[in-house]
Amino acid sequence: MDQLSVSAAAVSRSQVVRRTAVTQVPLNLVFFGPPGAGKGTQADRFAERHQIPKISTGDILRKAIQDGTRIGVLVHDTLQRGALVSDDLIISIVAERLDRPDTAKGFVLDGFPRTLPQAAALDALLAGRGGVHVIALVVHADEVIRRLADRGRHDDDAFVIKQRLAVYEHETAPVLEYYRRRKLVTVLDGNRPLDEVSEAIDAAVKDKMA
Ligand code: ADP
Repeated sequence: MDQLSVSAAAVSRSQVVRRTAVTQVPLNLVFFGPPGAGKGTQADRFAERHQIPKISTGDILRKAIQDGTRIGVLVHDTLQRGALVSDDLIISIVAERLDRPDTAKGFVLDGFPRTLPQAAALDALLAGRGGVHVIALVVHADEVIRRLADRGRHDDDAFVIKQRLAVYEHETAPVLEYYRRRKLVTVLDGNRPLDEVSEAIDAAVKDKMA
């Protein structure tokens, strides 16, 4: 497995390696869906199974708040309100994370990109390292509300949930369209039991990225 893997830097440097990359495409994935679609859970499972890092911008921001870092202090109120933090900030956080060597064989992004400028920035960051495929989980609205109410996170009270769903419709749904136009999306039914969804994701990735 290891000797087949292709580092991002090598791909952009060498034609020979680029040929290898045709058979060993890095698993660069974006998990997409409204809050409560189960993308975080599925991203965890997928990353674990395929031994690639999961990069959740929500987790990164919540940890920054917990640790009381400068960024944490900056974004605390924004998360409480269910609004989005600035594109510049989140893009620089993701850029730094994708620079780490553990992403060379691929990664699962959870919660990013959430706006069109973020999607454009991701394209630029991934130039020469294989691009992305998007797994979009579709879930019925009432199931979303039920799951979020069960989760009990700080920003999961009814008002903030409504806010986050509205932000999703306005800012984030167009990102899906952006990828759809480029035929980079697999839409999967996220209403099913966890294991079934995981299997469907694996099958889709095998099909699209083999
Ligand atoms: P959910 O799983 O409910 O979609 P996340 O854990 O992904 O929520 O994100 C929680 C909060 O973190 C968001 O409501 C937003 O305030 C902030 N956030 C996370 N990712 C981004 C992003 N890519 N751009 C802007 N804000 C973000």
